[in-house]
Amino acid sequence: MGKITPRKEHISERTRAEVLKRDDYKCVGCGETNNIQVDHVVTWSLGGGEELLNLRTLCRKCNVKRTRYLSHCADTINKKIDRAIERLTKENKELRKTCEILEVLFKSAENNSEVWEDLYRYEKSKKKD
Ligand SMILES: [Zn+2]
Repeated sequence: MGKITPRKEHISERTRAEVLKRDDYKCVGCGETNNIQVDHVVTWSLGGGEELLNLRTLCRKCNVKRTRYLSHCADTINKKIDRAIERLTKENKELRKTCEILEVLFKSAENNSEVWEDLYRYEKSKKKD
């Protein structure tokens, strides 16, 4: 009692034995029978539970491969996120620039009555058509 063990180790002996038996004491990845261990399909850190469907037998080699694969996936996702942030930052800058230009144009138009007169004449001529 009172001993704290990582959640990873919380697969009960009974469950572990059940998974090994179900998988015929072989790695489900390559069929290896040495250095096998019960592994979470969805890791416990991501909320994967101890249910039999989330457990499988893997050898050490396949476990390493899987870890590498997962970290490769994480790298790919992180790169995609970085690119998206970069693109959005660029678009945001361009949008700000456009707003600044529009603001300057609007202010200069506001101070230039000719522009309003031109616009008035233009609108009036359009109504005649
Ligand atoms: Zn294997």
